[in-house]
Order: sequence, then structure tokens, then C-alpha cells
Amino acid sequence: MPLGSFSPFRATRYVSSVDLIDVDALVAAGVRLVLLDRDNTCIPRDTHVAPPAVKAWLDRLRGAGIASCLLSNNFHSTEVAASACELGCPVVDHAMKPAPFSAWVAMARMGVGPEQTVIVGDQVFTDILAGNLAGARTVLVRPQSRRDLWYTQVFRLGEALVLRGVEFEGEASGPTGRSDG
Ligand SMILES: [Mg+2]
Repeated sequence: MPLGSFSPFRATRYVSSVDLIDVDALVAAGVRLVLLDRDNTCIPRDTHVAPPAVKAWLDRLRGAGIASCLLSNNFHSTEVAASACELGCPVVDHAMKPAPFSAWVAMARMGVGPEQTVIVGDQVFTDILAGNLAGARTVLVRPQSRRDLWYTQVFRLGEALVLRGVEFEGEASGPTGRSDG
């Protein structure tokens, strides 16, 4: 990417859901750590249960020798810890994304540098901004459900502007959103 086109709100990749991220491509790109947002990236805000496809994708990630860690802004530590247990991932909660510090903490724990790290999330102004500030690569996914916190719904309005014309891998064409909710 030319330096002049750098935007802190631009993701490296856009994929419709986390389980469609190509694990072999991550291995080929030298990725050793994937930092995952929890809410509406791995755990839908409506069902609160990790879809089997997400668990299977995490198994493939582990099988490929790539570490994973939840990086969650959710301040309900018990719920976040339960999800981490369900997904088989360690967790850094109270992450305070878009601040990059929690990502750096997770990388330090895993002994991995930002050039070997990918941050995956469903929000531009928290997950993608945090990843870019941390110096990592980023993947923006579509939110798993339409249920969001009230302030997230406000941010979604700005996101819609930033994402104009962006196409997500795994979707036929255009930012049409998901039909579930
Ligand atoms: Mg989220």
C-alpha cells in the first residue's frame, strides 16, 4: 500500500466472517498470533454462544500453529472469561481499544511482534484503529448480529461512511450486511 494512502481506519483485509479468514494464507504471511475481538466477532450479541463454525476455525488456527487471544473491551470479566474458556483462548479484557496497549500486552505475553500479528474485529473505530496503532495487520469482519450497544450504534453511522465502496470477501458484492439478527 502506498504510504500516502494510509488511513488508520483502513483494514488490511475485509472478510464477511471470522471463520472465512484463510488460515493457510495467514501461515503463508508469517502470522503467529491472531488477536480476536469478542462481541459480534466471535460471540454474537444476540445468542451469546460461539457458533460451531467459529470454534472449528479456531481449531484450524491452532492446528496451523498460530496462537490466538481474545482482546475485549467488554467490562463484564466473568462473561469474557467464560467465552475465552469456551473458545480455548487466553484473554486480555478491559482492552480499551482503540488504545493499542492491550494488543502490545498480548503480543508480549505470546512473545510475538506486531509484524507477526493480526487483529480481527467487527468495528472500525475500536478494533481496526487499535490494530493500526499497534502496528499489526487487521481484518474487519461483519458484525455477527444487529444487536449492538447504543454507542456502538452511533459509531456504526461513521463506519458506514468509512466503508463506502468496500467489498468484503465472502459476500457476493457490496456492503449489503448480513441477514441474521
Ligand atoms: Mg465487537
